[in-house]
Amino acid sequence: MSSVLTKAESLSLPVGRFAPSPTGELHLGNLRTALASWLSVKARGGRWLIRIEDVDLARCKPVWAETQVRDLAALGLESDAAIVWQAQRSEWYRAALDHLARQGSLYRCRCSRKDLQLLASAPHGDERLRPYPGRCRADKVARFLPDALRVALPAGVVAWEDRLCGAQADDPATLTGDPVLYRRDGCFAYHLAVVVDDGEQGVTEIVRGGDLREVTATHFRLQELLGYQHPQYAHLGLVTGPDHARLGKRAGAASLSALRERGVTPEELLGWLGWSLGCLERPEACRATDLLAHFSWDRVPAGSVAIPAAWT
Ligand code: GLU
Repeated sequence: MSSVLTKAESLSLPVGRFAPSPTGELHLGNLRTALASWLSVKARGGRWLIRIEDVDLARCKPVWAETQVRDLAALGLESDAAIVWQAQRSEWYRAALDHLARQGSLYRCRCSRKDLQLLASAPHGDERLRPYPGRCRADKVARFLPDALRVALPAGVVAWEDRLCGAQADDPATLTGDPVLYRRDGCFAYHLAVVVDDGEQGVTEIVRGGDLREVTATHFRLQELLGYQHPQYAHLGLVTGPDHARLGKRAGAASLSALRERGVTPEELLGWLGWSLGCLERPEACRATDLLAHFSWDRVPAGSVAIPAAWT
């Protein structure tokens, strides 16, 4: 059925997205995120987009993207618009960097990996979360140039609301610090690409893994510097092993193809995913569309969820 919407109505409809990096098969955690983002917008008549986050050219392979898109389709999750590939969007990222340079907030970072290790306050932490204290801030650039580039983030705490985790107050200076937006190896960085694409695609809500919660305040700051609206965010808990421990390397064992080999059908998987998102009383085989009427953020548990022992 085609609906005729006035401009105001179409503008108020939510736009969600799922943005996998094509570095391997999607595991249960990714599939759960994809389903939650799809249900959230589709339950309100909105649009859902798939975006392939392949900016890291050395790690990403088109064949993985094809497998990921096929697995999503097997669950009934299909993009409402042509799939966007970040590797083809350099012009947009370059324009955003030029914009930041004109504002006087882009600078060249000459710190070596060793310097960064010495500067880091959390030397053994996740590399993305070692806050960079802005040592090279004085080396401002007037426009994009192919060198390691960082943005000087305005100081201060960012107050934001996570749909699942509630009120947040984060200081990007203690989490990421000034993020790299262009890498010395010639790649645009995740933080830049994700903010530009969400802004340009008109994404109004972002559902993603809880491991990205700590970079969200940095994304808020970048959105402000680039003139984009803030989307709503929901960060989902981890899918763990049956022992409640991180899946880590075992994540590959929880892909759609591995589950199929164990005789689990896409409908059974959807039933389990739907149950884990609070749509069903118990895991029962179903289609994605069967879950739509039962989805509500109020019922989605904020914590982690363990996969059934029989599936590992
Ligand atoms: N590309 C990221 C991933 O695969 C997701 C980024 C995001 O949703 O902001 O984990």
